[in-house]
Amino acid sequence: MSEADQVTRVRELSHFIGGQHAGSTSGRFGDVFNPATGSVAARVPLASASEVAAAVAAAKAAFPAWSEMAPIKRARVMFNFKQLLDKHHDELAELITREHGKVFSDAKGEVMRGIEVVEFACGIPNLLKSDFTDQIGGGIDNWNLRQPLGVVAGITPFNFPMMVPCWMFPIAIACGNTFVLKPSERDPSASVRIAELLKEAGLPDGVFNVVHGDKEAVDALIEHRDVAALSFVGSTPIAEYIHAQSAQRGKRVQALGGAKNHLIVMPDADLDQAVDALIGGAYGSAGERCMSISVAVAVGHIADELIERLAPRVKALKIKNGMEPDAEMGPLVTAAHRAKVSGYVDAGVAAGAKLVVDGRGLSVPGHEEGFFLGGTLFDHVKTDMSIYREEIFGPVLSVVRVPDFASAVALVNAHEFANGVSCFTTDGGIARAFSRQVQVGMVGINVPLPVPMAWHSFGGWKRSLFGDHHAYGEEGVRFYTRYKSVMQRWPDSIAKGAEFTMPVAK
Ligand code: NAD
Repeated sequence: MSEADQVTRVRELSHFIGGQHAGSTSGRFGDVFNPATGSVAARVPLASASEVAAAVAAAKAAFPAWSEMAPIKRARVMFNFKQLLDKHHDELAELITREHGKVFSDAKGEVMRGIEVVEFACGIPNLLKSDFTDQIGGGIDNWNLRQPLGVVAGITPFNFPMMVPCWMFPIAIACGNTFVLKPSERDPSASVRIAELLKEAGLPDGVFNVVHGDKEAVDALIEHRDVAALSFVGSTPIAEYIHAQSAQRGKRVQALGGAKNHLIVMPDADLDQAVDALIGGAYGSAGERCMSISVAVAVGHIADELIERLAPRVKALKIKNGMEPDAEMGPLVTAAHRAKVSGYVDAGVAAGAKLVVDGRGLSVPGHEEGFFLGGTLFDHVKTDMSIYREEIFGPVLSVVRVPDFASAVALVNAHEFANGVSCFTTDGGIARAFSRQVQVGMVGINVPLPVPMAWHSFGGWKRSLFGDHHAYGEEGVRFYTRYKSVMQRWPDSIAKGAEFTMPVAK
């Protein structure tokens, strides 16, 4: 479809419930934009509580058969799904770019990181293997099981419309649960395509459902008694709300929140590498990543040279429609979000930070209505400024100057967010001390975006994660299963009569 067709035809999206597309009954809709053109690309239905209940009912009906299916058979569905994702890799990436704005190559990377979790979930028979102790005493054996929870829900943010749902549902359903996904209403198309591909892969109807919506749909999921667990990824205030509301109702919940990721540049760092890392880490995906670098911590004498090297690179960023092959950075997701990010730049200037590169007012030829904002660089940022304290979620990098390593670690540890952090250094002792002392969930040494692979687990500390489990990997298997311990003795065991003391091995 040509760009012109994309902007003139407004598609109406549907929910996906019980293996079928389902139109809106609530009559409420939201606009989905193509951020590069600024035009409305689709209308997304916003579910009422009764539409959410229909999705939960479909998932509940599918649970008994799906949870009883042998794990190897569930794994085979995941293998089929992985092959379909490979086949439709570019199509999914294009859907993402047209609704999110990120550049196509980055969207392809996002799809790949989603596929990797599916590949991990293909190993579910091995992951569900249990421990067994023969003869704990008196003819009794003891083993443990990990059993699925039932209907579980996922609520996901706009910034990774494919990858973040894939942090959740492949593992949840491979463990034998059934799933209701409430994706972001800002870029919802990828999730419906995922549902179609899962069906094509042989997933029984009702095991995976999609309901679009806003707070009304989320609250309906929290309140529904048949939803056993919720996984959330999004901003910190909503994460905290969902965690508290769900826990109050006795549900299992993991809620990943916002971030303010620092990259420390030690005086001994390889500066070429550190500058490349900062440019990619701060401006990739227009800073709309929960692992984006938003603070560069310049230690000692390195600061002036760092700024001198960063400034021309920020000015030279190729900012275009993400579908153009040489684009390095696309637009922000909506006009409202651009206004919010731009407001932070105003606030930084008003607070006295030195604006080295100003991205406000950027116009991209041929895309004047798109939601573009240029790369922005601040120097001499102080810890009491809103641009330092709050998550901006845009292409704005703040440089904070500190005298030494200890002050850099203290700075990071004093921040309320603790998602990711990185240190660029050539000193092994500093690297070791940093990874041990820093109070952050994901740590990079000479790696700007320490996003763990699918068989490790993803999550921050402090106000970047509410709950006990990180996402995906073995933490995901633990989150989506309940532990059961079984002790068994057969009647031919030695009869002993009633025992009134605590059983111990004899
Ligand atoms: P958001 O919190 O606005 O929305 C996330 C989800 O919550 C969406 O599905 C949305 O519909 C729903 N929601 C929004 N308002 C709600 C309300 N009042 N009540 C109930 N539900 C509500 O986040 P976003 O803008 O879509 O995504 C960006 C945020 O997500 C950033 O803060 C980013 O750091 C965070 N994020 C965190 C991680 C992580 O792993 N920690 C990963 C990706 C994104």
